[in-house]
Amino acid sequence: MYAQSDKTLTCADCSQEFVFSASEQQFYADRQFSEPRRCPSCRASRKASRGDSSRGGGYASSGYSGGGHSSGYDRAPREMFTATCSSCGREAQVPFRPTGDKPVYCSDCFQSHRRSY
Ligand SMILES: [Zn+2]
Ligand SMILES: [Zn+2]
Repeated sequence: MYAQSDKTLTCADCSQEFVFSASEQQFYADRQFSEPRRCPSCRASRKASRGDSSRGGGYASSGYSGGGHSSGYDRAPREMFTATCSSCGREAQVPFRPTGDKPVYCSDCFQSHRRSY
């Protein structure tokens, strides 16, 4: 790539000539911008009058919170034992080993027994 030289361009707004410097040309070429059509002062005033709404903004930090944090340890799936419900005779899954000393209720009967108290 040969060394670029400054260019003189004519402003589309005020018709004044302005220098499009070699470094600016490189800057524009890097970003694949087309050549500026206005002098720096006109560009600045246009930018100011437009309020520069095209840029800025960006991502507002959304309220992402890390969700419910787990309580200390990972609970392993509880071991369940199969028993026969003392109330309805259906198969019941209970979280303890049925001993036969105590009646075992399926979840339905357990709920209704609890409710009846
Ligand atoms: Zn101008
Ligand atoms: Zn039952």
